[in-house]
Amino acid sequence: MKMKKLILGLGLTGRSCIEFFIHNNIDFKIFDTRHKNMVDELSNYESIEDKIYFSEIPKNFLNNVDEVIVSPGFNPKHKLLEDISKLSIPIITDIDLFKKNNQATIISITGTNGKTTVVSMLEHVLNGCGYKSVACGNNGKSPLTLQGDYKYIILELSSYQLEYMTNFTSHISLITNITHDHIERHASFQKYLNTKKNIFKNSSNLLASNLTKNLIDSSKSIKFFGIENNNNACLINNKWNQNIIFNNKTVFLNDNSFAYKGIHNLYNILAVISISEILNINIDKCFNQLKNYKYLPHRIECVKSYNNTSWYNDSKSTNCDSTRAALEFLDKNIILILGGSKKEINYTSLSNIINEKVKLIIFLGENKDYIKEQLDTNVPTLDVVDMNQAIELSKKHAQPYDSVLLSPASPSFDMYNDYVDRGIAFIKAVENIVN
Ligand code: ADP
Repeated sequence: MKMKKLILGLGLTGRSCIEFFIHNNIDFKIFDTRHKNMVDELSNYESIEDKIYFSEIPKNFLNNVDEVIVSPGFNPKHKLLEDISKLSIPIITDIDLFKKNNQATIISITGTNGKTTVVSMLEHVLNGCGYKSVACGNNGKSPLTLQGDYKYIILELSSYQLEYMTNFTSHISLITNITHDHIERHASFQKYLNTKKNIFKNSSNLLASNLTKNLIDSSKSIKFFGIENNNNACLINNKWNQNIIFNNKTVFLNDNSFAYKGIHNLYNILAVISISEILNINIDKCFNQLKNYKYLPHRIECVKSYNNTSWYNDSKSTNCDSTRAALEFLDKNIILILGGSKKEINYTSLSNIINEKVKLIIFLGENKDYIKEQLDTNVPTLDVVDMNQAIELSKKHAQPYDSVLLSPASPSFDMYNDYVDRGIAFIKAVENIVN
């Protein structure tokens, strides 16, 4: 019997696997749990229609399968995965497939927050220093669709990818931070943590933020970066770097300085400098590149200043730690738009910073009661049904020098396709209503 590869999931990852297999003349079939009508742009796949299976698993479906490529979004509890395991068919990811076929130097990044920011900063610095590099993986750019040769491939890896990856080989691996998230997928924080730590298997250089020190086994030769004792000195690769100093807006190195966006982004900058140091890139050069880095949209993005009130879109915040980072970055008197789809999160950790910085919480989304039950605050709250109402009420309550912040600490799927869709809804509502 002629054996095939089986792709699980017809999203971005599955589609890149299809391209790869067609290009390399490898036989394959695809299974997606959704009903056919729920899948976009199927017309692009008319020529391989007979290879795609939806929702129902045909009889003897696994008989001719010799390897499975699982997409990060595919439900890990699906019956098909159970059957695959019983038959001991190897399960890999698109990242493993990519690594098998590419010889470039790999730099792998994971963490609860800051992954996409760090990979995009690093891509900017490396290219600016003359090393052809690309950031791909969980940031939405599939490694299998890369064209051309690169000196460095920067892989952003989520816990979903690390869960099934088999080939962890990397020149450098880095963890930005690890806080509570994705518990419904991994069942417990310990399991989530262990999945994240997979990134350190088979890597020549291990880096992690000092915020993870008591979570990670320090017997490994991990080099930590971060800020210690808040005394204007930073640790990079375990050494004090007294040349780097900072206040809460600017970071300085000798005669060189640039503005950064919040202490959490200083951590992201130190992550990039730590990697550059291992790659023997001069720190001054790295600093000069970081000066003209443009922060990504939907991450504490100031979309309007009007009557001395600033409006910030932080739609990418889907957990408490990223919302905490945004609240720490802004001055007091914040109107916070909070909530979205429900996931298992402990919101109590936001209570203190909300009491300190927030003057009004506007709840939007299906998890409003779940959050309210947990928060221990004396801040007034309002409930709204859509983004327009959230902006109208924010406008009504905003005084000069206040900030309005959309930082939901929740996913967006109850009302939007994704965080981008939610961020755009915020920007449009601000444009239409705030004038
Ligand atoms: P990820 O790719 O891990 O989701 P992003 O860089 O896209 O990370 O940022 C997601 C959210 O986390 C945004 O709200 C952003 O402001 C916030 N964030 C970015 N870096 C950090 C960090 N180092 N610590 C905490 N929050 C961060």
